[in-house]
Amino acid sequence: MNLKSIEIHGFKSFANKTKLKFNNRFSLIVGPNGSGKSNIADAIRWVLGETSLKNIRGENLSDVIFSGSDLSKAMNFAKVSIIFSNEDRKLPIELDEVEVTRKVYRDGESKYLINNKNVRLKDIRELFLDTGVGKEGYSIISQGKIDEILSSKPNERRKIIDEASGIAKFKYQKEESLKKLKNTDENLIRIKDILYGLE
Ligand code: ATP
Repeated sequence: MNLKSIEIHGFKSFANKTKLKFNNRFSLIVGPNGSGKSNIADAIRWVLGETSLKNIRGENLSDVIFSGSDLSKAMNFAKVSIIFSNEDRKLPIELDEVEVTRKVYRDGESKYLINNKNVRLKDIRELFLDTGVGKEGYSIISQGKIDEILSSKPNERRKIIDEASGIAKFKYQKEESLKKLKNTDENLIRIKDILYGLE
């Protein structure tokens, strides 16, 4: 599973549709200060479901949308698509390529897509569980992250180890099952109440 390309349109400083292709081995992004290098890392985090504005250096939801410049007017939406090769089927989809897209409009409307089909944020999270990619992933190491990991609380550090060792998925599935069991128990209590009322 490799990152093949990313297409950014209307996200932060990327007013024009911009496509970056990555090769299997090593890709480097260089540019002057303020040219948008970190915005690319933000775009990758964002499309993978980042919900903390702080983690993508924003304060308001609309901070991710191009706000205009001397040359171009502000945009109404931000859209990022990322393509992973999936020949090794690391992602649980029977296709050689998986494309994930996130789009948000200024009025707050937002959507996620996997291979052009509308999905929920939950589906994006589940897709990348135990791959090292995604919200709890360790595949994006930003400035200061190593220090943060070293000085973090043991339970925070444990999350990274869980993801790397492949047990995060099972923990997630256990939590989901416990939620369903709780709902079922509540439904049973309600049914008992109804039956009691009918007797
Ligand atoms: P450095 O090398 O200094 O870390 P960089 O190449 O990583 O810089 P970024 O931090 O990615 O640069 O980009 C900063 C630029 O992005 C700033 O010029 C900022 O004005 C612009 N920018 C951020 N958000 C938006 C937005 N919503 N609309 C337009 N421009 C934006």
